[in-house]
Amino acid sequence: MKTTLFNAENKSATNSANNVNFNEKTEEAIGMTIAKKTRFTKIEWAERTWNPVTGCTKISAGCANCYAEGLSLRFQKMKKQKKYKNGFEVTTHDYTLKAPISWREPLMVFVCSMSDLFHEEVPFEFIDKVIEVIKATPQHEYQLLTKRAERMAQYFETREIPQNAWVGVTVDVKNSIGRIDYIRNLESPVRFLSIEPLLEDLGTLNLQGINWIIVAGESVHIFYKSRLLEKSGSLFYLQNIDYL
Ligand code: SF4
Repeated sequence: MKTTLFNAENKSATNSANNVNFNEKTEEAIGMTIAKKTRFTKIEWAERTWNPVTGCTKISAGCANCYAEGLSLRFQKMKKQKKYKNGFEVTTHDYTLKAPISWREPLMVFVCSMSDLFHEEVPFEFIDKVIEVIKATPQHEYQLLTKRAERMAQYFETREIPQNAWVGVTVDVKNSIGRIDYIRNLESPVRFLSIEPLLEDLGTLNLQGINWIIVAGESVHIFYKSRLLEKSGSLFYLQNIDYL
């Protein structure tokens, strides 16, 4: 299993600087031209974001300072991107579906960095369209990360997971640990956890069936008080992860 650990106390970084693709608005517009570069997002563990869905609703303690909400509302006010005309309301965007086909270079693509693909308001029929694009672009690998683990598992009960799709769940506090069980046995090449932001001691985690975990605290931001972990606390939490 691979673990990727990011420094929760990097005070020079902001949530938006850490996690958000500022090229979002050019994502579909520039297409193949922009695809000549290799990295289009500041998310450390992905090379590109793809947002066929925007908007979401809060479901977990980790959502309290959701960067996607702040950015979506900002973009809505700026009125420059049609994608965000509904602000943070869940909205599907058919016109973005073909974007990965134009990315010739193989990329690690984080799907729905500005939403949750498995949100209750995203119809399975739309998720089918996203999965079809994933299947049609085997040169890329796609990270499907959700906090709606049950709905993702329900979706894949009747559908095959493409061989280039990784499935992951976010675990931020103790009462979200149950999400891991929903992906443990899914037929995916990589089952992963995003333990970000790590907000409390999670105890000993059963990582049976999990291939990769990302661990990070909450980034510093000027608009809210980050729930930073004390350094000693972070180490304590990590010591308690049980590598199986
Ligand atoms: S699930 Fe993700 S996108 Fe949705 S509110 Fe929570 S942090 Fe934001």
